[in-house]
Amino acid sequence: MTKRRPLMAANWKMHKTVSEMEDYLQRFLPLVSDVTDRDIVLAPSFVCLMKMAEILAGSNVDACAQNMFHEEQGAYTGEVSPLMLRDVGVKRVILGHSERRHIFQEDGQTINKKVLSAVRHGLSPIYCIGETLDERESGKTSEVLKSQVEEGLKGLSKDDFSMVAVAYEPVWAIGTGKTASTDQIQEAHALVRQEISQLAGEDIAQNLRILYGGSVKPDNVGQIMALDDVDGALVGGASLVPESFTKIVRFEID
Ligand code: PEP
Repeated sequence: MTKRRPLMAANWKMHKTVSEMEDYLQRFLPLVSDVTDRDIVLAPSFVCLMKMAEILAGSNVDACAQNMFHEEQGAYTGEVSPLMLRDVGVKRVILGHSERRHIFQEDGQTINKKVLSAVRHGLSPIYCIGETLDERESGKTSEVLKSQVEEGLKGLSKDDFSMVAVAYEPVWAIGTGKTASTDQIQEAHALVRQEISQLAGEDIAQNLRILYGGSVKPDNVGQIMALDDVDGALVGGASLVPESFTKIVRFEID
């Protein structure tokens, strides 16, 4: 069980219109209103963010973006900037999600610019990393995770690290119904923490939250959250129904 404050985050991906988001919040907020010992985060599409942040103001749930561009403004058609996110009351942003890396070809350098820009603008990044099935099967998991941690978090000051959470999401477990085993999860999280200790020092590594993502469900969250180095979850599919995400937020250790 983590010594750190758990962070339970929902990634809605490209799901839910504004009215569906409003219906969700109407059901979800009363179900979690008494939860004070963990952070609860919802990441809807950009078009929902402004209204969501308005509804969540003063609640125990934060709105989070799923992505952003690193520049403040300019000729970048289709992009959304950190200033725009801050302006509508957003405080967190998911960066480097495997769907951004693999479908939209975001590379480590691009993601690093986003991480630095987010922190500079007061947005807390949830920085995602994770190996593909090929990489795991060819014994490259540690190498991949180390290089993603190094590349994505390069240039952060020690103070900046306090704003960051890392999400370990094995690509082969995202949206597939396959969850990594508890041994695989603990091993990867310990390795990430070790790498952060080398980059930023042991104190920072001990305080940094590392979330697990990849087919987290109400019936496996307890055993995952029981692991020493797991400090939260990033949840796709099972976060789309308020009752199901509530069970995840309210995990009980198995
Ligand atoms: C994700 O989107 O980050 C994710 C882990 O999805 P799922 O829970 O559906 O595997």
